[in-house]
Amino acid sequence: MTQQNKELYQGKAKVVYSTDDPDVLLMHFKDDASAFNRKKLGTIVDKGRMNCTMSATLMRLMDGAGIPTHFIDQAGPTDMLVRRLEMFPVEVVIRNIVAGSLARRLAIPEGTPLSKPLCEFYYKSDELDDPLVLVDHIVEFGWATAEQTREMRMLALHINDVLKAFFEQVGLTLVDFKLEFGLYHGRILLGDELSPDGMRLWDKETGKKMDKDRFRLDLGGVEEAYQEVLKRVQTGAEGHE
Ligand code: ADP
Ligand code: UDP
Repeated sequence: MTQQNKELYQGKAKVVYSTDDPDVLLMHFKDDASAFNRKKLGTIVDKGRMNCTMSATLMRLMDGAGIPTHFIDQAGPTDMLVRRLEMFPVEVVIRNIVAGSLARRLAIPEGTPLSKPLCEFYYKSDELDDPLVLVDHIVEFGWATAEQTREMRMLALHINDVLKAFFEQVGLTLVDFKLEFGLYHGRILLGDELSPDGMRLWDKETGKKMDKDRFRLDLGGVEEAYQEVLKRVQTGAEGHE
């Protein structure tokens, strides 16, 4: 059994531990919530368990679709064993519908559909508030090679196809989401998590926001929305077995 060992990193939503296997990490999902780069902090009751379980289910869905991920196993209600990646300091955002920072930056109304998915890159830096960057910046500053950036983009678009269809089946519209990738013995794998902390999901019937925007914007019913998404994800996954 792989044992939790030393704390390597204390993040905003997760704690990362080493294990007795140098290739394996244990990720502990916390109930802590943050938004606007830690300017807003809080707790979402039971979020750790809900996000860990959802993430495990969706990572399995990715594996089934041939998308390589860091996921090994769920090790407990709030813990996950993953392959240890050398993370690219880049966040990949895919958007199907205009929302969030895109709506604000370009003054385009939230909810405007996009004719095809947009792929954006952000430099992962708390000090700089994760700025939007171009592929040329990523290559120039050595965060990833041009080839690796192309591969992240292809994988992210493939992930979008799979996730969008999956959520559609359970009555949720996948508006946008953020991914993180890393290198595992030279191969690019999907890392981090897949949960309503890092994606926008709107109820297909009512348009209700079912993700971290409820926390960001003080809309109330945060826990209930996460519970509902978890329920639907589990229902959707049963249909895939
Ligand atoms: P943040 O760093 O934004 O506060 P988290 O609290 O989610 O975010 O912390 C998790 C950290 O673990 C992130 O920095 C993420 O890049 C990193 N990470 C995710 N998956 C892996 C992995 N498989 N191997 C190494 N690091 C990972
Ligand atoms: N996102 C994230 N972490 C970040 C920034 C964005 O998980 O540090 C997710 C966010 O939840 C949304 C998508 O990426 O689903 C696009 O976010 P956006 O650029 O609109 O920023 P926001 O307005 O959410 O800060």
